Amino acid sequence: MPRVCVVGSANVDYTVALPRLPSPGETVSGGTLLVNLGGKGANQAMAARRLGGEVRMIGCVGDDADGRRIGESLAAAGIGVEGLLVSGEAATGTALIMVDAEGRNQIAVAPGANHRLTVEMAASHSAAIAWADIVACQLETPLPVVRWALAEAQRHDVTTILNPAPVQPLDEDILALVDFLTPNEHEAARLTGLAVDSLDSARAAAVRLLASGAGTVLVTLGERGVLACYDDNAAHFPAFTVQAVDTTAAGDAFNGALAMGLAAGGTLEQAIPLANAAAALACTKRGAQDSLPGRAEVEAFLRSLGGRSLGGSR
Ligand code: ADP
Repeated sequence: MPRVCVVGSANVDYTVALPRLPSPGETVSGGTLLVNLGGKGANQAMAARRLGGEVRMIGCVGDDADGRRIGESLAAAGIGVEGLLVSGEAATGTALIMVDAEGRNQIAVAPGANHRLTVEMAASHSAAIAWADIVACQLETPLPVVRWALAEAQRHDVTTILNPAPVQPLDEDILALVDFLTPNEHEAARLTGLAVDSLDSARAAAVRLLASGAGTVLVTLGERGVLACYDDNAAHFPAFTVQAVDTTAAGDAFNGALAMGLAAGGTLEQAIPLANAAAALACTKRGAQDSLPGRAEVEAFLRSLGGRSLGGSR
């Protein structure tokens, strides 16, 4: 089975679905509450697991009911949680999400225990990195841990994905450890200082990130899909058309599925359509982890579009 190790965050998400998003200082009533497990790390781990990957997670939760719920839920899904450590110093990470009738969202995060993960703690589970075909990181865990995980992966010849979200400045020494960098338009703009609002401008940002050391850059463009750039090449993979109700975990579905597709030995031409399909399906349901599609659902969706196979097994 394809092996994915996710080094990242685990949160509890409190989502309120509203007729429209409030502006600063404004109260919008009439919402519906949904409590979900989330965090970019746990979401991406779950996305890869639902698609049939063997998945282990390294992260940190609080010594509280939410933390135990996260551990139980990931373990029940078949994800290895030995590396999901417990900190007595902070509460489990919490996200407050608002989503409007068009599926647009606003998210506020209290990282809590996610920020208590240290290199020393993570390093006690380095075997999970050596074990993996793909190591996937995001930026909801401390940067020293991300840097360590990417370097440890490189030391073991394990391919790396960095989803630079939430975005923060990245040194070239980190980018040089990244085989696949997956910013969305906003993140690509923040990482490069360039405006990114079209395929051409996404390519210009990707070229700059490649020059800074990233191996391949996949700029995700929401409903316009993905621009994949490496060396002097750029390829556009359009998104699949769906009725989007909540795009909360689209990027996580994309990254988890990409990890799974690449871990299975797939090429980018195989892994990106799989990731686009998983992400599109995640947009059709509310919530984060609950909205992540299973392998059968993604395969049926791709078949309904004209018989593409997931491919890439080895
Ligand atoms: P993020 O969720 O991190 O902001 P994007 O908005 O770029 O990232 O979405 C990630 C991926 O999810 C896209 O590349 C695309 O495959 C898919 N996606 C996002 N929004 C839609 C949509 N409205 N319809 C279909 N696919 C979508």
